[in-house]
Amino acid sequence: MANFRTHLTVAVVASSAAAVAGFGVGLYGVSTAVFGAIIGTIGGLLPDIDLRTSRPAKKFFAIAELFLATLMAILYASHHVGTDAVINALAVWVAVFCFLKYVIFEIFHRVTVHRGMVHSVPYMAVFALLVVYGAYHGLKLTALVSWLFGGFLFIGSLVHLILDELYSVDVWGLKLKKSSGTAFKFFESNKPIAYAVLYAILGVLWIFAPEHETTWQALRQAMIDFPK
Ligand SMILES: [Zn+2]
Repeated sequence: MANFRTHLTVAVVASSAAAVAGFGVGLYGVSTAVFGAIIGTIGGLLPDIDLRTSRPAKKFFAIAELFLATLMAILYASHHVGTDAVINALAVWVAVFCFLKYVIFEIFHRVTVHRGMVHSVPYMAVFALLVVYGAYHGLKLTALVSWLFGGFLFIGSLVHLILDELYSVDVWGLKLKKSSGTAFKFFESNKPIAYAVLYAILGVLWIFAPEHETTWQALRQAMIDFPK
């Protein structure tokens, strides 16, 4: 397993590179690029969030609560005008902060064990879809930006899982360590019901998710336009 510092460094570099690339091909503006890089970085740390007792995890939770609450408040304020907007933005900040701290993260702590389900591809896909839902329905962002934010989170978390997987192979890439094959996982045979529920949640979230056709079109168009 890679350590926290390695994960953070790789997450920042990979997310920034992806954000800059999208901006470079004209997929989105500066603010989406900045938020995308930050969300990707959070995704890069997300699979280890159930290490509740560890110092990095505590730090991560504190930062994530503050950052996400502030992000939501800013996004709210940027989409609403009028005298109530500031008060409402503050209310959004408090609501998001408390919701994350006492509901979302609390649930994760209770139902997960490290290297358990959180550290898996389907769990990260659920997280990514929740970002899409939150951005689209909660913040009223466009379907394109919502999917991009979800995509940043998902790709960041995949980079994390791949990194852990690489670290389970020794430096020469020849001898596999015991933990090999347990980082980048889709299923665990000793938890069939838990994974069945997880995939069911994933399926429902996918079915009712905002339309993603415009996102694919925009991505395709960006690829086509890129060399020009
Ligand atoms: Zn990990």
